[in-house]
Amino acid sequence: MSHDLSQLITYLQEHGQNITAPRRAVFTALQNSDPLTMAELEKRCPGVDRSSVYRTVMLFERLGVVQRLSIGWKYKLELSDIFQGHHHHLTCQACGKHIEITEDVSLEAQLQALAAAHDFTLKSHQLELFGLCSDCSPRA
Ligand SMILES: [Zn+2]
Ligand SMILES: [Zn+2]
Repeated sequence: MSHDLSQLITYLQEHGQNITAPRRAVFTALQNSDPLTMAELEKRCPGVDRSSVYRTVMLFERLGVVQRLSIGWKYKLELSDIFQGHHHHLTCQACGKHIEITEDVSLEAQLQALAAAHDFTLKSHQLELFGLCSDCSPRA
């Protein structure tokens, strides 16, 4: 059993939930994966019916296992910071590729300072950067 899966089991138990086959499948599909749309996630969970995938995602969102990544008016799903570590993405607007970037300490501090300047206690944030990846950038 992978370390992350045992972390999920413990987390579910703490929230009065058990691990089930669909929950295991959804979690495993999102592990070490680019963010997935609901349709992509369903495809990565063969043998789990559509409504079970959907219900599992709803539960995971409520419990904070999964978070939504807004891309325009659509969204993709990924594991929350608890399971994946805090990070941001660079999203290519041409091919849709997501490049994961690790947190920059000074950027994080600046966001905290910005919020504090408005007497606001920052609990979390998502920061998405859009543009063109190296494959899609016109070459000089
Ligand atoms: Zn691209
Ligand atoms: Zn951040």
